Amino acid sequence: MNIIEIINKKRLKQELSDEEIKYVIDNFLNGEIKDYQMSSLLMAILLNDMTNNEIYSLTKYMADSGDKLDLSPLGTNVVDKHSTGGVGDKTTLIISPIVASCGVKVAKMSGKGLGHTGGTIDKLESIPGFIVNLTEEEFLNQVNTINVAITSQTENIALADKKIYALRDVTGTVESIPLIASSIMSKKIALGAKKLVLDVKVGSGALIKNLKDAKRLSRLMIDIGKYNNIEVVCILTNMDIPLGNNIGNSLEVEEAIDILKNGKLGNLRDLCIELSSYMVSLGLNISYESAKEKVLEKLTNGEAYNKFLELIKTQHGNIDKLPKQKNKYEIKSMTEGYLTDIDAYKLGLLSMSLGAGRKNKEDKLDYSAGIIVHKNINDYINKEDIIMTLYTNKQVTEIDNSIFKISDKKITNSKLIYEIIK
Ligand code: URA
Repeated sequence: MNIIEIINKKRLKQELSDEEIKYVIDNFLNGEIKDYQMSSLLMAILLNDMTNNEIYSLTKYMADSGDKLDLSPLGTNVVDKHSTGGVGDKTTLIISPIVASCGVKVAKMSGKGLGHTGGTIDKLESIPGFIVNLTEEEFLNQVNTINVAITSQTENIALADKKIYALRDVTGTVESIPLIASSIMSKKIALGAKKLVLDVKVGSGALIKNLKDAKRLSRLMIDIGKYNNIEVVCILTNMDIPLGNNIGNSLEVEEAIDILKNGKLGNLRDLCIELSSYMVSLGLNISYESAKEKVLEKLTNGEAYNKFLELIKTQHGNIDKLPKQKNKYEIKSMTEGYLTDIDAYKLGLLSMSLGAGRKNKEDKLDYSAGIIVHKNINDYINKEDIIMTLYTNKQVTEIDNSIFKISDKKITNSKLIYEIIK
């Protein structure tokens, strides 16, 4: 076997065998296959697609290429959740305690953020004292005792995916649906998921731009799930509408508290209720309707918030000591009309420039920095209304004024959830 023959085969749209895919993964990891050869194969895959059998093999060998977690000692009511990513996506902070308070186990391994997207671990680290690097034993014990634990993902999960993703990022091959599906599912398989709810984000600011691609990606991930004995539910959600109002680590923890404790309404809460309901339905093997009833009950009777407090306390965090910012800048609208678009990507970049995100992996975060957007899509804005507040310890000199679009008519597509695929 050799890599040139394999690249040529894919270029000619022929199906690669299981052995050939294993050869590619093994030899790319050990350095025999060079980055330029792998890049060429990835581009051939992007252009010529993959069959389901090829995707199953690729996912399997990527999942097997690093450490694996065995969650079976926790029983069968363990559910994982994953989002294909977004700005200000603090759903994990809210959903995990809701679902755990319903009697479902949430063993969540999360990552740090890079660039304009924030990571769950960074948000939790903004809580003074909160420990994010539990040992495997501590992690499993905590899930067994309080139904929930959130810890940093180990560096060694799906190593081949990590190396391939880094290459895709710089060779224009991120947007291949088979490669996205196998990348996400290889990590979930390695992390021991058996029941999984996937929030597939669709929109101009998301990796997946249209519904057709989102449906194919969802079906593929469900098929990979079936092949590996994992029950998967995909929720296709609108990413053009920002989730909630706060961006930035401690500000997002505050918003999570607002929802869990103070019953703050809006898109973020609505999405968390939907995702939680599907997780509880999978975890307890009950109908979506009964699960939703449970979720709403735990949110309103305070048990979900108490579970959040228990999670924070067990991992040694102190939410009474969230960091505060030195400087506050109120940004006012220069025009009037309906707010029809908020550019989540640009907001993410702005938040990063305030200190809330990393440009490079090594950058230190200012956990207190970030943005609160005071208006929602289709709100009427008067001239001079405060549209957002920036929190930072830096000096702010210039703001991109194309973040908000204000028009004379409301938008009609403000749907939050497009479709559920199982
Ligand atoms: N998230 C992943 O983990 N992998 C991809 O390829 C895309 C999004």
